[in-house]
Amino acid sequence: MALLHPSTRRLREWLETPPGAEPDAGVEEHVSHCERCADELEALDAMTAEEAVETSEVELALQEVLAPPTGLEQRIEDRIEAALLARRDFKLLAGLMGVSIETARLLVEPPEEPRS
Ligand SMILES: [Zn+2]
Repeated sequence: MALLHPSTRRLREWLETPPGAEPDAGVEEHVSHCERCADELEALDAMTAEEAVETSEVELALQEVLAPPTGLEQRIEDRIEAALLARRDFKLLAGLMGVSIETARLLVEPPEEPRS
């Protein structure tokens, strides 16, 4: 397991990985077992959502018309959880199927730890 926390930029890029694109394997490996970075991802996702609202007032207005603006935080949490689970599942699947040598290596080989 990686000992260094990924940079905020890397976390954000991972979070914004479009469907079909290759996500940053190092980030997903780290975030799957690092609560601190999972929290940071959540904060980043909240920020992204706020930006999206700011840049899309029409969409916001539509949302208010179409549905009560409730449970935004819960929706963000659900989204992150779903994203994490989906990526974890994908990683397991990839390892089982031998799709990604790098992914399999992450699962099988012991982590390189600096020794002093
Ligand atoms: Zn971390």
